[in-house]
Amino acid sequence: MMEYKQIVDNIKMIASTLPPNVLLEAAAKTRSVDQVRAAIEAGVSIFGYNYVQEAESVKTHIETNVHWHMIGHLQKNKVKKAVQLFDMIETIDSLKLAQLVDRECVKEGRSMDALVEINSGREAKKTGLFPDDVESLVRAASNLSNIRITGLMTMGPWVENPEELRPYFRETKKVFDHIAALNLPNVLMTHLSMGMSDSYRIAIEEGATIVRLGTILFGPRS
Ligand SMILES: *Cc1c(COP(=O)(O)O)cnc(C)c1O
Repeated sequence: MMEYKQIVDNIKMIASTLPPNVLLEAAAKTRSVDQVRAAIEAGVSIFGYNYVQEAESVKTHIETNVHWHMIGHLQKNKVKKAVQLFDMIETIDSLKLAQLVDRECVKEGRSMDALVEINSGREAKKTGLFPDDVESLVRAASNLSNIRITGLMTMGPWVENPEELRPYFRETKKVFDHIAALNLPNVLMTHLSMGMSDSYRIAIEEGATIVRLGTILFGPRS
């Protein structure tokens, strides 16, 4: 396991290789509060969590003002808590979920930036919308007052060689550009979240503006 100083140096090194328009998000599942602090010291300001509960338990120990993103499937019964915790939800995958987030935001008196998750591999068992279904969801969500769609997120299918992800990233970027060109009210296509430790370079070549990195920043998960 990498220790504090190693993580700081390692993350600084990786961050220095990213183009200036690309945001580094630490995918922080299973990492300790100390490892998160090391990432903050290295300059990371976005932390992605797959579970509401895990984000909550780490966040209570972090005093620094960083951004917390939900990057896992958001269960409907966790929406209230998610709205209290996160600065962005990257995994909107149905109109129903967008409406629930909007409603909780109204109650909390806040607004939420959100990405639509794309199932770019069109896999039956994966979450996210098929590319053809994105436009109608974004159009409907644009009418909601307290949630604002600010881009797209994708994982892509599991592949042997990360190079095989390129067509899925490329298609997601195409959907992104298509939605951006619609100029819908209350929709701001700013963020394209794609690429993980083994694929982020390819994702950046295909237009990613947020890369979600775990293993390469912190070492293997135990
Ligand atoms: C874990 C995770 C990542 C990062 O994966 P690594 O291979 O460890 O870089 C990115 N995105 C999501 C949604 C994840 O769950």
